[in-house]
Amino acid sequence: MGNKSFGIRVVATATAAGVVTLAAVVGILLSVARHADLDAEAHERTQVVHGLIGAMREKEDWIAGQADWDDALLNLGVAFNPDWARANVGQYFSNLGHFERAYVLDADNRPVYAMSDGVDVAPSQFEGARSAVAPLIRKIRAAEVRRPPIVGAAPYRKVLSKPIQASAFGSINGVPYLITASLVQNDFGKVRLQGRAPILIAGEAMNGDFARLMADRFLLKDLHVHTVDNSPENEGQTSFVLTDAGAPIGRLDWTGHRPGLGLLSRVLPPVISGLFLLLALTVSLLLRGRRAARALVASEARARHMAFHDHLTGLPNRAMFNDRVAEALDSTRRNGGRVGVMAIDLDRFKLVNDTYGHGAGDQLILSVAARLTGLCPAGDSVVRVGGDEFVILCREASAARLAHLARRIVERMAEPVDLPFGRVFVGASVGISLVEETGVDGAEALRQADLAMYRAKEGGRGRYCFFEPDMDTAMKARRQLEADLREALNSDGLTMVYQPQMNGQGRMTGVEALVRWDHPESGPIAPSYFVPIAEEGGLISQLGVYTFRKAFLDSRRWPQLRVAVNVSAVQIRAVDFPDLLAGLLKETGADPHRIELEITEGILLADDEQTQETFRRLRAMGFSLALDDFGTGYSSLSYLRRYPVDKIKIDRSFVNNLGVEKEAEAVVGAIVRLAQALNLRVIAEGVETESQREGLRRAGCTDIQGYLFSRPVEPAGISRLLEAAEPRPLAALAS
Ligand code: C2E
Ligand code: MG
Ligand code: MG
Repeated sequence: MGNKSFGIRVVATATAAGVVTLAAVVGILLSVARHADLDAEAHERTQVVHGLIGAMREKEDWIAGQADWDDALLNLGVAFNPDWARANVGQYFSNLGHFERAYVLDADNRPVYAMSDGVDVAPSQFEGARSAVAPLIRKIRAAEVRRPPIVGAAPYRKVLSKPIQASAFGSINGVPYLITASLVQNDFGKVRLQGRAPILIAGEAMNGDFARLMADRFLLKDLHVHTVDNSPENEGQTSFVLTDAGAPIGRLDWTGHRPGLGLLSRVLPPVISGLFLLLALTVSLLLRGRRAARALVASEARARHMAFHDHLTGLPNRAMFNDRVAEALDSTRRNGGRVGVMAIDLDRFKLVNDTYGHGAGDQLILSVAARLTGLCPAGDSVVRVGGDEFVILCREASAARLAHLARRIVERMAEPVDLPFGRVFVGASVGISLVEETGVDGAEALRQADLAMYRAKEGGRGRYCFFEPDMDTAMKARRQLEADLREALNSDGLTMVYQPQMNGQGRMTGVEALVRWDHPESGPIAPSYFVPIAEEGGLISQLGVYTFRKAFLDSRRWPQLRVAVNVSAVQIRAVDFPDLLAGLLKETGADPHRIELEITEGILLADDEQTQETFRRLRAMGFSLALDDFGTGYSSLSYLRRYPVDKIKIDRSFVNNLGVEKEAEAVVGAIVRLAQALNLRVIAEGVETESQREGLRRAGCTDIQGYLFSRPVEPAGISRLLEAAEPRPLAALAS
């Protein structure tokens, strides 16, 4: 998934979550607001009800002042005084008490006075209010009966009477009224009344003025009073005005306070901005988290890659090989077929590495890796298992396919590699294990391929070899031989033999020192077999010291001869090699001018500063240098000019071909002419027959070494040959 699409998804998810949260929060807030509104409504309604009752009590208290009054009893009860009634009931109630209606009922509840809207009216108009007032009259009369008699009344002493009053909401002529009825009573007891007292009725219309008063007192908005039948629909608050019997006679409407709305308008903006902030924070955290997670995954993948790949080449490493080979073998077991494991070892990698440093070695490995990868079909895996060791895992392998691939690898590896510091020849040996048995695992397959590879190396490098079961024993034998060689070196178990070198006149001019090892059990072992073992087993410098010391010592026995000593490629790379020889010269007293160092061509790898320097030093010390096995390696004309050699030894293979291949003589002739042109001496080795000698002579090479004259012999044999030399015929010397 791309970063972008993930970003879009995160934003979309977070937005969805944000919208849901916002909806939930707004829902909760709305519900809270709604509840606040409902609470406020309930509170206002209670306020209105209590307000109405309060108004009723206030009116009662106010009227009590007029009703509980000896004067009122005297002028309304003892005898009815209409003037007094007008002044103290009608006008007083209208002007000071703001009542719209006032009535006076006599002892028999008959209206004796009536006031309506501030003017006296006929008492008969009380009939419009009678039904509303009747329940109050009944209450008052009942209370009057229950009232204790007034005792001990004295002038100027207030009698202990409580006001007898009753109030209710009632409809007078269809208009809702707040009606209070009060029994007229003594206050100071100056007047005595026999029988029932008159009743004062006061009515306050619940009209616009009333509504305004209520609205001001209880802070209600748009308060209106409606009669039940003409009341329009109301959207706001409503409270019914009920009679004591529960009949609705009017309705109070007002616009209720909505604290919830205010709450919402105050709370919502900060909540919404807070939510958006939270949303942005969440998105950014998610994106950052995702980035961190991706970085983690990437570093994990890097670590995994590093665990299974070679750091230098990026090729799979040994751990990956183990996995893949196990997989391939598993599939073979299930589906049949064969798996090939190819071990490839560079023949001269160590030389490059030691000579030019690890940087050069790395470059070489990189170019080798590229070559191998280029040669392998897509299904095969090229693996770097160690320094210069590569393995190729071939699935669906066959002997023919593996042989073909191995041949191509050997050929390709034989081609020079151009590196920034020059051109090098590396070469590779390939060992192949073709696995078809079920008992073989990856490690065993690799071991077999390694063994085959060693066999290929022994066979002369630049070859490939299939694993065969006898290689196991051969490898064990090789290990044993290495141990035996070490032992032989320590116990003087080696000897030196010398093979004469003759000039055109048949005179012995030199000898080549050749090392011999007569194994206590196996008998004589060829140096071409054990010298490489010494090189690989780290015994070469010890072997070198042995051969040089011996040859140097023996050289003193034949002052007339030049003694050639073979130098291993590994030895010549050692920086202290000239010093080692200087030490041995001193120790043995040998003359370096009579010592010739034989170096095989393969050493001349490239324009190698150090090798050139070593050569220069050796020559300066008096040694002469011969290029051994000339024609088998990679020597080019430029090498011959660059390296200060004195002599070339034509390889035995050219001599063998004399008289067999037509061109052989021409090739030898060319080598001889090259040597003459460069002012080098030339000798042919491995001369076994007279005809070969003839061929060489025709080609211009007169110096020869070979069985034709003598096999390598012990030092005493050389001394004998020298003594018996001239003038005996050469043929008689051959042993
Ligand atoms: P090389 O230096 O090319 O030595 C010549 C080899 O050819 C010797 O084999 C010698 O015995 C053999 N030879 C000589 N004349 C004839 C002939 O007419 N016919 C045949 N078929 N062979 C002939 P050798 O002694 O087995 O040595 C083999 C190689 O081992 C040598 O090749 C040399 O590279 C190496 N070697 C021998 N001695 C030493 C030593 O002391 N030190 C080192 N570093 N290498 C040695
Ligand atoms: Mg030699
Ligand atoms: Mg040779």
